[in-house]
Amino acid sequence: MKIDLRSDTFTLPTPGMLEAIARAEVGDDVFGEDPSVNELEQRMAAKFGMEAALFCPTGTMSNQVAINVHTRPGDEVICEQQAHVYIYEGGGIAFHSGSQVKALPGNRGRIVAEQVVAAINPDDVHKARTSLVCLENTSNRGGGSCYNWEDVLAIKQVCQIHGLALHLDGARLFNALVATGQTPQQYGAVFDSISVCFNKGMGCPIGSVLMGGAAFIRQARRVRKLFGGGMRQAGFMAAAALYALDHHIDRLQEDHMHARQLAAALEKKDFIGSILPVETNLLIFEVKGRFTAATLAATLEHYGVRCLAISPTQIRMVTHLGIHSAMISQLVQLIDEL
Ligand SMILES: *Cc1c(COP(=O)(O)O)cnc(C)c1O
Repeated sequence: MKIDLRSDTFTLPTPGMLEAIARAEVGDDVFGEDPSVNELEQRMAAKFGMEAALFCPTGTMSNQVAINVHTRPGDEVICEQQAHVYIYEGGGIAFHSGSQVKALPGNRGRIVAEQVVAAINPDDVHKARTSLVCLENTSNRGGGSCYNWEDVLAIKQVCQIHGLALHLDGARLFNALVATGQTPQQYGAVFDSISVCFNKGMGCPIGSVLMGGAAFIRQARRVRKLFGGGMRQAGFMAAAALYALDHHIDRLQEDHMHARQLAAALEKKDFIGSILPVETNLLIFEVKGRFTAATLAATLEHYGVRCLAISPTQIRMVTHLGIHSAMISQLVQLIDEL
């Protein structure tokens, strides 16, 4: 058995995607002359009903570019305390943008409007200027949880009243859309900027797309260059993303089903504690009794199954397009026998 559930970033391009990459029409994107990049940016902007888009090498860069454009040094950014932009981007908010973070305790990575209101600093010389709210959907550390649309709208209203920008780290936004039935247009109408990853469940080697208003994206293009992210024949990777838009969105449903099947198998075991509700393709559960997270991960690895011990008592498994139903059946059987 060779089953890698450590992350959906381990996905490899399918033969169809490789063919799309090989056939891509490319040019120098710093000169604005890569037709595949231009097509991807236009297509994503249209899909989300936003004015413009920018292809970035990573989701970290597209988030950090967005934060840089939305803030000034000395500002404060509001986000959930386990947000990727805060805990997994190398201190980038401080490093790149000179802003500080007010991190709020959420419910599986999600915050609500009342918390945002309470976190906004008053107009007072002692206080940092609150300028930006960042949400994450699905939430990575929240175990792939999705926002309710009403909660997003309530946060938007707070942002409008207080003049704050609203950014979405939508690394796995397509997972959320498929799971909830929400639409790209809903998101485009509410957020000032959205970052979507193609290097996760979408199955591309690299790439993220940042979307926003025309003036925002013009400035983001400057900052991307400043950060070293101006790419030349990036169209090979944009072609992979275009292919993923056509072929890899609806199938995310399958990943979500696989995650639920694994949860159902784990739930029956005496060495498994609580399992976070499985909403999408991330599965986070507690290990107890005869295993620790590390010894269970090691035991599974012995059978060719890789997963991540994310704390002494917690394991994370991520389903993705490299994980087929037959693998899930094999793994369910292995779990039954443990
Ligand atoms: C993966 C991820 C990112 C971006 O990661 P990169 O590896 O830089 O593309 C951003 N936010 C979340 C929630 C993620 O899971």
